[in-house]
Amino acid sequence: MSYVDDVLSRVKEKNASEPEFLQAAQEVLESLRPVIEANEELYKREALLERLTEPDRQFKFRVPWVDDNGQVQVNTGYRVQFNNAIGPYKGGLRLHPSVNLGIIKFLGFEQIFKNSLTGLPIGGGKGGSDFDPKGKSDREVMAFCQSFMTELCKYIGADVDVPAGDIGTGAREIGYMFGQYKKIRGTYEGVLTGKGLTYGGSLARTEATGYGLLYITQELMKCHGESMEGKTVVISGAGNVAIYAAQKAQQMGAKVVTCSDSTGWIYDPEGIDVALLKEVKEVKRARLTEYAAARQSAQYHEGRGVWQIKCDIALPCATQNELLIDDAKQLVANGCKAVCEGANMPTTIEATRYLQENGVWFIGGKAANAGGVATSALEMTQNSERLSWTFEEVDSKLQQIMVNIYHNIDDAAKKYGMEGDYVAGANIAGFEKVAQAMLAQGVV
Ligand code: NDP
Repeated sequence: MSYVDDVLSRVKEKNASEPEFLQAAQEVLESLRPVIEANEELYKREALLERLTEPDRQFKFRVPWVDDNGQVQVNTGYRVQFNNAIGPYKGGLRLHPSVNLGIIKFLGFEQIFKNSLTGLPIGGGKGGSDFDPKGKSDREVMAFCQSFMTELCKYIGADVDVPAGDIGTGAREIGYMFGQYKKIRGTYEGVLTGKGLTYGGSLARTEATGYGLLYITQELMKCHGESMEGKTVVISGAGNVAIYAAQKAQQMGAKVVTCSDSTGWIYDPEGIDVALLKEVKEVKRARLTEYAAARQSAQYHEGRGVWQIKCDIALPCATQNELLIDDAKQLVANGCKAVCEGANMPTTIEATRYLQENGVWFIGGKAANAGGVATSALEMTQNSERLSWTFEEVDSKLQQIMVNIYHNIDDAAKKYGMEGDYVAGANIAGFEKVAQAMLAQGVV
């Protein structure tokens, strides 16, 4: 049995109850085959893959808080510190009822390679809780965030582990968590990113993941002799990534015709009104039915369905496993040219293969949504310098990082005879740097 197969079978045995983590591990290790095979003896002796698939440590803790009726509620908090070979652990905090250890592990594992791809010195980690901020009052959200940070603050720090936002964790939640960290630890440091601009946040961080997704998509199109101008784009999600992806796509001259949330989706053939979408989602925190009610050209549909709309480019920006094999078939049948993932692992392995085999240019989330964490790392740099850069400065660095990522993953795929396989290219380019650092640092 090859070293990759041997490790994969042990990972499966050990983590049988964590399907998302297994899916991520399988996707990464399968695509690393040519690199591993070229150095099999060394990697096997060093147990490099075993060390890479086992987190450095993981925390699971109780988060008690009191709701507005005086009732005590209990949630579970997680932080997985996966790998710090190239820098402090870095990765977001997800607040969603679906959160469990397997999901946090999958996200933390992916984060190792993504962070490496940015070219910046950050390791991989992830955290969160099964708490659902939806429908909670501001006071309840604060009570949860304070309780969550009361425990989490023992394990993080500006040079140790720097969490950020993710699904359900936006500026409000980061603010409450930062306040509690400062109060308990008594230090004012850049321990979280995605902070408000008045207390150490970076301009362009809010926009970064969505904008970065479009910068890499634009480079992909350019390198295939195409432009964004006049293209029809379908987007899923209506959160942070989706909103700013739609905004940048429109600035580039494309037309975005869909968005979605967990209950339904919008088809707006006139093009999504981003200002209205922001009002509905960022200000009112309401459902997409409100968008439809306010805009005549918009059609609202219950359930899921954005991938059936004819498009040139599809950008899944909601959550994991939201683009399935039948969706992939529909996209191909409709002549879709490119799929770039704004969310983490939104496309199943089967759907990814189908898209690639049918000539769709496919860039996975590890590369395509790395703009968020890259800008978080730029926020860390500004905090260390005690300086704030202008929006244009941060945005132009982000743009350069995304263009570099595209060329790095393209080159890595070509180097191992897999031209056009940007998924493998991203895994390989991300892996090589982490592997070298791990080998250099000995058995730790
Ligand atoms: P938000 O919470 O801002 O938005 C998430 C969106 O996806 C919402 O529209 C939400 O709908 C929808 N959604 C969430 N869960 C589900 C589900 N189970 N089924 C259907 N729809 C769902 O999160 P972000 O925009 O920040 O994150 C989106 C994705 O991008 C995630 O995969 C995240 O890990 C990834 N990502 C985010 C980064 C960032 O900087 N924010 C950086 C890199 C990756 P509803 O409002 O109804 O819940």
